[in-house]
Amino acid sequence: MNKPGQVFIISGPSGSGKDTLIKALMEKRPEIKLSVSSVTRAPRPGELNGSHYNFITKDEFLRMLDNGEFLEYNTYLGNYYGTPRAQVEAWLQSGADVILEIDVNGAGHVKKKLPDAVSIFVMPPSMRELGERLAGRRTEDEETAQKRLLEALREMECAGSYDYIIINDRLQNAVRQLECVVEAQGCRAENMTETVKGVLKDAQSVNWQTSQNV
Ligand code: 5GP
Repeated sequence: MNKPGQVFIISGPSGSGKDTLIKALMEKRPEIKLSVSSVTRAPRPGELNGSHYNFITKDEFLRMLDNGEFLEYNTYLGNYYGTPRAQVEAWLQSGADVILEIDVNGAGHVKKKLPDAVSIFVMPPSMRELGERLAGRRTEDEETAQKRLLEALREMECAGSYDYIIINDRLQNAVRQLECVVEAQGCRAENMTETVKGVLKDAQSVNWQTSQNV
């Protein structure tokens, strides 16, 4: 049986650049899967259904919620966001690592259900920078951008409860750090037991006398 995959939770306020970071990580590690959440908010310009999110109605969301189809869910600025359970579980069972890009509340719920999940918080280098990034987006009205900024503050206050914090100042550095976290997780002793067993099993087949003479 495959070793189950690893869950990586990635949170960070809107404008922290976590989407770009995740995209860069997945280019380097295409075997990692990214869970596509279901959401009741309208798509932003450029967002594709089934790729960025599954955009569904509130009725559909509530029906799925009733059926227990979400691993976790949360409301954010009046909209529902949820992680569909079936796909994530299938990936994990097949041995694939899975990224959940979810907010602070969702991260707390997942950590309770899956304590081995590794949580990573992406921080902007400063509030000023975050404000500028959000203002530069121009995909939302002023009021929503203000609400996101307040929400960002609330989320950043929770950064200390995560396993890792990455400051997204220079993208290249941040991507390297994210890769290091993923890499280090793969090297944890509990994740290496099959490899170690293989090496030890191989030792039985070595002709020690011959190899000592080499
Ligand atoms: P946005 O509207 O900017 O795409 O996302 C708003 C917030 O919702 C972000 O912090 C994002 O990480 C979070 N989010 C996206 N999908 C999910 C989800 O399935 N569950 C939870 N709990 N949060 C989500």
